[in-house]
Amino acid sequence: MNSEIINVTKTHLPDRGKLDARIDRLFETAWVTNNGEFVKELTARLEEYLGVENLLLVTNGTMALQVAYKTLGITGQAITSPFSFVATTSSLVWEGIESVFADINPKTFCIDPVNIEKAITPETTAIVPVHVFGNACEVEAIDGIAKKYNLKTIYDGAHAFGVNYKGESLLKHGDATILSFHATKLFHTCEGGAIVFKRKEDLEKAKLLINFGINGPDSVISEGINAKMNEFQAAMGLCVLDEIDSIIEHRAEVWDHYVSRLKDVVEMQERNPNSNNNYSYFPVLFKTEDELLKVKEELNNNNNIFPRRYFYPSLDTLDYLQPQKAQMISRDIASRILCLPIYVELEEINQNKIISIMKEVII
Ligand SMILES: *Cc1c(COP(=O)(O)O)cnc(C)c1O
Repeated sequence: MNSEIINVTKTHLPDRGKLDARIDRLFETAWVTNNGEFVKELTARLEEYLGVENLLLVTNGTMALQVAYKTLGITGQAITSPFSFVATTSSLVWEGIESVFADINPKTFCIDPVNIEKAITPETTAIVPVHVFGNACEVEAIDGIAKKYNLKTIYDGAHAFGVNYKGESLLKHGDATILSFHATKLFHTCEGGAIVFKRKEDLEKAKLLINFGINGPDSVISEGINAKMNEFQAAMGLCVLDEIDSIIEHRAEVWDHYVSRLKDVVEMQERNPNSNNNYSYFPVLFKTEDELLKVKEELNNNNNIFPRRYFYPSLDTLDYLQPQKAQMISRDIASRILCLPIYVELEEINQNKIISIMKEVII
């Protein structure tokens, strides 16, 4: 038995010397939060790297969603994907917005625009689609529906760091797109996130909202919350950003290796042909849940390898929500999908072990 534990991901920590130099700077200035120099620098560098404007750094991806809803005045009902991390839906509920599901496309795992249109009611004010596993949604169809019914669109782009669509940043679609910079994500600041707004006015409003509504030393002009990113988070982000191209390159190698060995063994996500891949996750779809459980058990119990059931359960099964129409495609995909380990330091010998165990159990 191998004592090394292999998880679905391993946080990439950047060059220690560079991070230490940044932290030394924070010890000199003693300015550790409230829109400090590293937050400003990271904002500018991310806007450049991603090819976007109006980017606001915040404390985590969930707050990014909540602040985006608040900024855009979302109320009533929002239509969202049942196949996502729970934060997509729980953030709506927390803001007093009813989450109404529209089922996904069984090949791309993204929300199906046809189902969005069917779920619209007089209470609907927004659409919250998810670029799941960094796969671009059908953004043109969704943007068209939003326009036709006068709805706001907030994309959950927690997985979509660095993804382009038709040669431009995918994050430019919708009224806002959020990113998560959690330690498990492709690019991280330990905890953190960002909102990319379409309009500058919305960015300015959100800047107030994330700082208690304070706009000067003695002036509070709106409601607000505390969702600011601090300087230690930004320092980590700047150091990870220095290495992002090589991180993505390494992950692409792991990705390609899986594809070449597993393409006839399991089904894979159909990727949007107008988009690049950021290699953030490696989801595989089994024929049955039974097959998935057998593979998972063999990996977990006998080999200390822990892939994750992203995303399970389907969010329409959460009991704290109002009664939901069952989302059958999402439930089916959720029951059969597993994300395999993918990270920079994953050694080929261990990757080969995962592949051979899967083949043994399945065939
Ligand atoms: C990680 C994630 C979030 C939440 O981001 P945090 O930074 O962990 O708060 C939201 N949506 C999706 C799809 C995610 O994967």
